[in-house]
Amino acid sequence: MNTIAAISTPIGTGGIGVIRVSGTDAFSISDSVFISLSGKRLFDRPGYTALYGHIIEKDGSHIDEAIATCFRAPLSYTGENVVEFSCHSGIYLLRKVLSRIYEAGAVQAKPGEFTERAFLNGKIDLTEAEAVMDIISAAGETSSRAAIAGKEGILSRKISSIKDMTVSLLSHLSAWADFPDEDVPELDRATLLSSVISIKDELRKLLATFDSGKIIREGVDTVIAGSPNAGKSTLMNFLSGCEKSIVTPVAGTTRDIVEERIMLGDTPLILADTAGIRSTDDPVESIGVKKAIDRVRQAGLILAVFDSSRSLSDDDMELIDNIGDIPSVAVINKSDLPLMLDTKKIEHFFAHTVFISAKNGNGIDNLKTAVAEVLGTDKVDPSSAMLFSDRQRESVRKALDYIVEAENASTNGVTFDAITVLIESATECLMELSGEKVSDKVIDEVFSKFCVGK
Ligand code: GDP
Repeated sequence: MNTIAAISTPIGTGGIGVIRVSGTDAFSISDSVFISLSGKRLFDRPGYTALYGHIIEKDGSHIDEAIATCFRAPLSYTGENVVEFSCHSGIYLLRKVLSRIYEAGAVQAKPGEFTERAFLNGKIDLTEAEAVMDIISAAGETSSRAAIAGKEGILSRKISSIKDMTVSLLSHLSAWADFPDEDVPELDRATLLSSVISIKDELRKLLATFDSGKIIREGVDTVIAGSPNAGKSTLMNFLSGCEKSIVTPVAGTTRDIVEERIMLGDTPLILADTAGIRSTDDPVESIGVKKAIDRVRQAGLILAVFDSSRSLSDDDMELIDNIGDIPSVAVINKSDLPLMLDTKKIEHFFAHTVFISAKNGNGIDNLKTAVAEVLGTDKVDPSSAMLFSDRQRESVRKALDYIVEAENASTNGVTFDAITVLIESATECLMELSGEKVSDKVIDEVFSKFCVGK
């Protein structure tokens, strides 16, 4: 395999920028661009050691000082010989160092190629590789712990334990099919069925982790809805910590949709403060109102804001009617003012009601708890196996379809041969999931989502 190189830290000015070189010739290539102060060569150094020195031009003049860290195959991230140069992180300098490394014989790494090589060299399986991306992009405690558990192989072990179940079933089926005249006891249908059902339950449980996992990773589209002047913009501003929406005492000032990504407790929300929902003759405002209603219908979470200092209006009722079965929390705002609202009516419609003052922040902790409960993120166990990507979900879903078909076939007295084929297909889906048996196209797709340098 050729030797690849790329800048592995974000491009920009900073204290340190790292260039990673990986491949059989990583040491000799690095030695031709780096001179250590001690005169030692990287080629002769054991793994996990570092040398201080300079990156040099062809004529020997210094480009930058650097620390070169050596990793020897197979004990490196990629499983190959690796040198990591820690230089000063200036865009010009890093690019210059990198072009020297290319001149010396390395080629430019493709997006995710270091991690792809780690996968191809058997350092990690495909789900662990995918978890690397989630570790980098994690924005909260739970999502980061879940991604680290994924990288450490929690999902791989789960898949492998389910695969053990299908393989053991297959060996029973084939032993009986291959040696019908020998002493192999015939697999009775009841045992077959109960094994198939256990596999089905495991796959279902795994599949169910995808939705809550997706929420803690990617966030949920959230709409702050409510009648004009209920305090939607004030709440949005409070949650996002800046003056993003226009707050004004004149009804109908928020005409378009303002979006902001925030962390509410440990749940990422993509917040949209919409135009107030109300009947209006103003053509511009009515476009905003229509957009608001559409957005409410597509939302993954609705924070329905009510003004506690007023009685329930027709606009409030219209909002309630539009929520349907979308997960929602009734946010009764302006709790610092005397209560005029019939809160019983609201509590009748919403499973979760919280009292807050968006003006002074009272009650926000209750809102965090209610949102986590409504979305089920309070029940996410980041140390358990979770599905991270659409690819993983698709593989589990396909495996489950085959197993459900095998269950029906077992109940309906279909031949063992036909059932064997279905369980084999489910096993192949699990092998595709872990990457044990996967096409180049799938591998390319997985790593194309990575950035260069990872
Ligand atoms: P929107 O039309 O729903 O976006 O409402 P705004 O956020 O623009 O707020 C309308 C008015 O209510 C403004 O004068 C806010 O200062 C006021 N307001 C918002 N939240 C509170 C609150 O918790 N307490 C009090 N007393 N006033 C609030």
